[in-house]
Amino acid sequence: MDSQTTVDERKKLITAARLFYQRGWMVGTAGNLSARQADGSFWITASGKAKGELTTRDFVRVHGDGKVEAPYPNLKPSAETSIHQAIYSLFPEAMACYHVHSIEANLVSMFAKSEDTLHLPPLEMLKGLGIWQENPCCQMALFNNHLDVTKIASKIEVRFRNHPPKIPALLIRNHGVTVWGASPETALNYIELAEYIFRYMVAAHQMGENFR
Ligand SMILES: [Zn+2]
Repeated sequence: MDSQTTVDERKKLITAARLFYQRGWMVGTAGNLSARQADGSFWITASGKAKGELTTRDFVRVHGDGKVEAPYPNLKPSAETSIHQAIYSLFPEAMACYHVHSIEANLVSMFAKSEDTLHLPPLEMLKGLGIWQENPCCQMALFNNHLDVTKIASKIEVRFRNHPPKIPALLIRNHGVTVWGASPETALNYIELAEYIFRYMVAAHQMGENFR
């Protein structure tokens, strides 16, 4: 294990979690962040840890074969680890996967026109998510929430294998958003962009815009 690299990446996850906590996107123990290592394993926030107060002792390492390595006692992987595993399996370029629970992400999931798609407004900010079109018609994949998170993960895997998404983000209805990127910094940027778009949509809806 390259301990220097892994410690640094856990610190990036801690910094991001504190920022998201302060913004109300990772209240209490909600949400989970992970960063993939060169060997294919990834560090992920352990279950039940306060996201505003993480330390490097609050992570577990999940290996490619699914084996969980807990460097400190009493650590369990996040309940939503299967979603991170699905994302890393689908997207070889993804080196970080961030998932937060914001109020706006939940509200916009009610604006969806169909069961499985959320239409996004044609905002300039979509360029940050890789959409370089004038007046783009862009969608975010939407999945129903299930108590059994592995069910959500397998639906993500099946759908994206057949229909790769145009943007590196997905929404789980009444639950939260997940993004992935080539680095922890990129994933942080994507979360900020997604949340900006959601806040815009909620504000526009309050002004009478009907996204349905
Ligand atoms: Zn969640």
